[in-house]
Order: sequence, then C-alpha cells, then structure tokens
Amino acid sequence: MKLMPNPTVLKLKRTPPAARHSMSASAPRSADGLVSYAMRVERSQGRRYREPAHAYRGEYVRDRDRIIHSRAFRRLEDKTQVFSRRFSDHFRTRLTHTLEVTQIARTVTGALGLNAELAEALALVHDVGHPPFGHTGEAALDRMMQRYGERFDHNLHALRIVERFEQKYAGFPGLNLTFEVREGIIKHSRDYDPALYRELAEYRLLERPPLEAQLIDLVDEVAYNTADLDDGYEARLLTLDMIREEVPLFDRFLRQVDRRYPDAAHKLRFNEALKGVLDALATDLIDSSAAAARKQDVRTVDDVRASARRLAAFSPARVADIRGIKDFLRRRLYEHPSVHRERREISRLVESLFDYFVGNPRRLPSAYYLKTREEPAYRIVCDYIAGMTDSYLRQQWARCLAQ
Ligand code: MG
Repeated sequence: MKLMPNPTVLKLKRTPPAARHSMSASAPRSADGLVSYAMRVERSQGRRYREPAHAYRGEYVRDRDRIIHSRAFRRLEDKTQVFSRRFSDHFRTRLTHTLEVTQIARTVTGALGLNAELAEALALVHDVGHPPFGHTGEAALDRMMQRYGERFDHNLHALRIVERFEQKYAGFPGLNLTFEVREGIIKHSRDYDPALYRELAEYRLLERPPLEAQLIDLVDEVAYNTADLDDGYEARLLTLDMIREEVPLFDRFLRQVDRRYPDAAHKLRFNEALKGVLDALATDLIDSSAAAARKQDVRTVDDVRASARRLAAFSPARVADIRGIKDFLRRRLYEHPSVHRERREISRLVESLFDYFVGNPRRLPSAYYLKTREEPAYRIVCDYIAGMTDSYLRQQWARCLAQ
C-alpha cells in the first residue's frame, strides 16, 4: 500500500495543542506554565509525618513514585477491569486502565495549565482500592458488608491502604503521601457529609477538592467508556454496526473515517472512529472545565475549593453522549449472557469466601487474625478480600472451600 501524506494530519501537526483548545488557552499562565488556580506544590499542606525535601524531586513526584512502588499498585496487574483475562490477553486490566487514565489526565491537566504532576499521582492511585473482579467483586463485598450495617467504599479503602496497610518505610506507617493526594483519593468522585464522616474531618469536607482531583473522575469516564467499547468489540460481543446504530457520537466519527479510508479493515475503521470519540470527549472536558472556571471567576485554589459546584465538567451535549454510551454498554455488554454468567460465579466465590473467613477467622493470615481482636472480623475479612488479586482469590477459595 502506498502511503499518501494526509493534508488534515499535516495541518494538525503544525497546530500546537494550546491553539486547538482556544478557550482553555485564554486563561493566563504564570512563568511556571500554570494557571493561577492550579494546585502548586509549594502550597501543599504537606505530609502527615514531616520529611526533609528531596534534592531534585518535587513532593507530588515523590508521591507518584511511592504509589508506583507500592504493593497495592502492583496488584492492579491481576485485577479485572471488565473482562477477566481468561478470555483474551488483550483486554484491559486495572493496571492498564490506570495507565490510560494517567496519560489522559496528564494531557487534560497540561492543556488546562493545571498541575499535571499532581494529576499523575492522583490518576495512578485512583483505583488501588478496587477489589478483585471489577465491579462484580465490589458489589459482592458491598452486599456482604451491608449484612453488618456497613458499606464497602473503594475510595475509603484506598485511603486505608495508603495510610495503614502499606508497610514499607521505617519512619512511618503507610506511604505518607501529601495531603492533596490523600484528599484526592477520597474526594475525586464524591463528596462527604461531615456529620456522617467525622473520621475524615481533616479533609476539608465542606470544600471542593482542587481541580486536578475533580478531573480524575471525568477522565476515568473518558477512559473506561472508550476502553469498554474497544474490549467489547475485541471480545466480539459488540459489532461495528451495533455501535454505529446506537452510539451517535461514534457514528459521526465512523462516517468521517469511511470517507477517508473506505477500504480499511473493520478493526482499523473501528479504532479510528473510537480515537475520534476519545479525543472529542477529552477536548470537551478541557474546554468545558476552563469555561466553568472562567464563568465562576475562579482565580485561586481557594476559589476552586469554595465554589458551590465542581468545576470539572463536560458540556450538556457530551454528558448526553456519555449517558448514551453507558446505557449502550450496560444493555449490550455488561448484561450480555456470557458476561452475566461469569458475574454470577464471581459473586458466589466472593460471598462464600467472605462467610468462610468470618466463621473461621483463625484461617486468616496471622497478621489479619491478630487484627480481629481490635476490629470486627467482618471488617478485617473485607480488607483482606479487597486487597486480593483475581487469581489469589481463586486460590484461596480452592484452598478453603473446594471439596
Ligand atoms: Mg478507574
């Protein structure tokens, strides 16, 4: 095949990213390249345990490094995102999903003139609290906890991991991350009623988190909605025609692709159209969030914190598109009989293993068993199971319950 230079591509290459996002480019930047309402590392509330500054790594960069070096981060490799690896090596895991969220987060915050180093640390840590087997594992754990009048919340679990469970440094428990990263871990996707969460009082619960943290949840949506379309197509549960008929945004890009590459293979046309969807969503997130900051006359991080509503946002049209994609994925993918079958099996594994350990706490690893003297067994069992990888959970189930 002869490769012809494509005039559109050449034009895009000559156009710097900031100029493409005209609205976000209008916010003035300081000498450090950041807008006035970026969360600057010099203004960090710091770490719980004081540590000397590093010679050449900033505090958020150190946080990023600690997260990457943690056990909980490494375990993401063997945690399901949507599809378990039993069906294909090509599907996302929690780890590769996390890396996709991270690169989009860096792009979006960089284009907005926000602190991309903070965003990178937040994105890398955003899913470390997820239990094995994706949403199914999470829902099963939550059901088990509700029997004891409690809930499982992956954000709060992630905070427990970085504050307590990671035992790595001699000078302090946990990873001793900066305040803004810990705050972002719990607040990136939800707000908390201070009356109900007194133990979280230090996290400024009446305020919004910095914009870098607010963006993580929406970047996560960009990443997983596009990735789930991709994995669903790869799994042959979704077809090109099915997606184009039911997802108008995808159809719009596929029409462009079909005009430009009429003879390209199905998979390549699919990839090109999906790339268009991802770029449209990320660009909209940049423009809409910059517009919200401008509209509310936000000038400092304190303004971001004091704003009545979150500033990170998609436009109404893209909100409708995303809602449509989610609805499509739910009907056609998440509730597909083959996915559903696996889900029932997973729920059974998680629930029976939970019951087994609550009934037989001495079968827990000794460190966990000792903790059952201080906290209720169901809480310790929940922590233990939430930390497992997919294959470790299967192994434990086989060891304890397979007859
Ligand atoms: Mg995620």
